[in-house]
Amino acid sequence: MQKIVVVGGGYAGLGAIGPLQKLEEAELVLIEPGTGHQLIPELPEALAKHDSIEHHVVPYERLFTETRVQHIRQYATNIDLTRHSVLLDNGDDVHYDWLILCPGSEPSLPPIPGLRDVAHTLRDASDARGIKDALKYGKDQRVAVIGGGLTGVEVAGMLAHDHDVILVEAFDRLLPALGLGLSQYAYRRLVAAGVTVVMGQKLVRVNPPHIELEKDHFEYDVLIWAGGITPPRWIRQTDLPLDARGYPQADAYGQVLPNVFVAGDLWHVVVDGQEIPATAQLAALAGDFVGNTIVNRITKNNPGPEFRPRLRGMLISLDEGQGVGWVLHGGIPVRGFSARTLKNISFQQYRLKLSKIFDRPWPL
Ligand SMILES: Cc1cc2nc3c(=O)[nH]c(=O)nc-3n(C[C@H](O)[C@H](O)[C@H](O)COP(=O)(O)OP(=O)(O)OC[C@H]3O[C@@H](n4cnc5c(N)ncnc54)[C@H](O)[C@@H]3O)c2cc1C
Repeated sequence: MQKIVVVGGGYAGLGAIGPLQKLEEAELVLIEPGTGHQLIPELPEALAKHDSIEHHVVPYERLFTETRVQHIRQYATNIDLTRHSVLLDNGDDVHYDWLILCPGSEPSLPPIPGLRDVAHTLRDASDARGIKDALKYGKDQRVAVIGGGLTGVEVAGMLAHDHDVILVEAFDRLLPALGLGLSQYAYRRLVAAGVTVVMGQKLVRVNPPHIELEKDHFEYDVLIWAGGITPPRWIRQTDLPLDARGYPQADAYGQVLPNVFVAGDLWHVVVDGQEIPATAQLAALAGDFVGNTIVNRITKNNPGPEFRPRLRGMLISLDEGQGVGWVLHGGIPVRGFSARTLKNISFQQYRLKLSKIFDRPWPL
């Protein structure tokens, strides 16, 4: 019997388990320390005053009951590539015939003086809880958000109603993943919502209660760092072949070694020389792709076509009820209420997909 081990029960890991369930003879093991699947793209919404983080986590028990998925609640800490086993933080090891690594990513915090001592990051539900504990939901509380990409813009927009928010971006525009017109729309909306947007200046020092930029400085009460992601540290301790940024070197099938694959944020996907931004949508597609690739190898000894993701769109929440982005594979721009409505629909579609993958009653 083939033993397939998935590390990480996020978008990619659950996406991979879907097709793997077709292998009736295989043993399916998920190594995942958490008790529930965190719907990370929903976490900025969870920061709103009357929202609750628990609404954005789907308990694994609800998904895996009566399935063949064996959930081991531990962190993977290393991989023994010779003995084909994953080492766990309780000292155990788990043998694999096939391994899919989907542990996501970590916030990348540069060595800016004072930053690490005070900055909140937002990468998982526990980060979101930490931020919510620090928020007072009053206009007299100043929140500084550093980074004008997807996470920073969503967080600034979400907190604008209840806080005095400043958003700092080193480049001269927000949301580089979107076209210029859409990024200018996001800027105008945030400013109209009361956010102070400072672009073209880097954060150089944090000296509480000040953030010092290249030219200006501002006072803050809560500091949120939203300046990018990096592969998990433990991956760098493995003997996997890594690129200069610490990502496993994977081919167009997500394959790193004959029986080791990556998916999700850990797979740095490049198609036709173009880097595809790491998103939940890409992670779910990549997980499903890698799961199917392994099914094909086991059942037909044929990997099928290479990974060419067709992204349905990219939607970013702004201030209350508003959003911006593009939809449909050709990239039709959307903004305002319709963009936010489409984003909310995409959250529901994902939950629906999960209920289908695990044959669970709807709503989850
Ligand atoms: C604030 C924010 C907003 C975002 N908004 C959007 C959005 O609107 N749309 C979009 O498409 N994308 C969005 N993204 C990006 C998206 O969340 C990620 O790209 C996606 O979650 C990556 O999926 P993944 O499966 O690789 O990792 P994750 O979903 O992070 O799952 C990784 C899993 O691995 C587990 N894990 C970690 N380390 C270990 C270990 N050592 N051993 C075992 N398990 C481990 C974790 O507990 C976790 O359950 C957002 C990200 C953030 C931070």
